[in-house]
Amino acid sequence: MEKRIYNFSAGPAILPEEVLLEAQKDLFMLPGVGMSILEISHRSKTFDAIIQGADQGLRTLLGINDNYTILFLQGGATLQFSMVPLNLMPPKNKADYIVTGGWAKKAAKEAKRVGAVNIAASTETENFVRIPKQEELKLDPDASYVHFTSNNTLYGTEYKTEPEVGNVPLVCDASSDFMHKKIDVNKYALIYAGAQKNLGPAGVTVVIIRKDMLERSSDSLHTYMNYKIHADNGSMYNTPTTFGIYIIDLVCKHLIKLGGLDEMYKRNVEKASVLYDYMDNSDGFYRGTAHKEDRSLMNVCFRLPNEELEAKLISEATKAGFSGLKGHRSVGGLRASIYNAFPKQGVVDLVQFMKDFKAKN
Ligand SMILES: *Cc1c(COP(=O)(O)O)cnc(C)c1O
Repeated sequence: MEKRIYNFSAGPAILPEEVLLEAQKDLFMLPGVGMSILEISHRSKTFDAIIQGADQGLRTLLGINDNYTILFLQGGATLQFSMVPLNLMPPKNKADYIVTGGWAKKAAKEAKRVGAVNIAASTETENFVRIPKQEELKLDPDASYVHFTSNNTLYGTEYKTEPEVGNVPLVCDASSDFMHKKIDVNKYALIYAGAQKNLGPAGVTVVIIRKDMLERSSDSLHTYMNYKIHADNGSMYNTPTTFGIYIIDLVCKHLIKLGGLDEMYKRNVEKASVLYDYMDNSDGFYRGTAHKEDRSLMNVCFRLPNEELEAKLISEATKAGFSGLKGHRSVGGLRASIYNAFPKQGVVDLVQFMKDFKAKN
């Protein structure tokens, strides 16, 4: 195979070509080090510069100030489903969860092992096709925190602005739209994101935590589960995912070079519109599943008139070099994941393919 194909996978997902080429160049030996990033000590000066670079890159891009600590952890977003309640729920042992999809449900399930979970809203009976409106939220002003999922990877819905939660700390699973636009981090007590959707390779999870929240971590927690221990040790209580952090550093430098997150957002809006506009004008052949006002810029979910045609399109698209279009196994249909690194030309080419497919079928 000579040519990279279009990768629409939901995650692990596409990374910028420039980053892959740079990593390839440096994989055998980091310049001036004589060893690979895969071989150096996490306690070395070289790695210290890399993790500081990743930290600084995230701070620059998202405008994160010194009130926040950035952690690079393992265990995916899934481990955060447990770490968040274990650290932040006591002493009240109750929290609000807004359930907008499969991942949010899983997060709430783990929190229930720690304390009382109030489902502040859920759109499950509507098959998660939309984000609940502010007035639907039944928030407990006494909750330890409110948890929401900014982008619902499986259902293709996305919060356009954060839910308003008053003085209760806001916690967000941003795994699938982290860094797709600039957000006001000051609205959040904690943001977590598995890197493999929109940031880097699988294996590293970014946690941005407001420093006052660290005081909630109890000494009785198992060591790895304790945010404060990770913060006190600069994410190096144990061996971190050195390679993943290295790639995050490169991705941040790449995004800064491109013009930062406002530029990424502009590109993401443009890219997603190409696909949504075509779907909306396909006489109902391609039917977006999410409510229009809640549509995700990252994961475009749609259906065809029947499942046979869906299978046929996926099979023909795969042969034509469009990979990863099958919807999540729990949802069906099709899903085109078009994260930051996905090129606009790939969306334009997919639309042309969909037009041809519609004409023939
Ligand atoms: C993919 C995903 C997860 C799970 O991530 P893992 O790294 O596999 O644990 C959680 N939340 C959201 C929103 C996701 O998209």
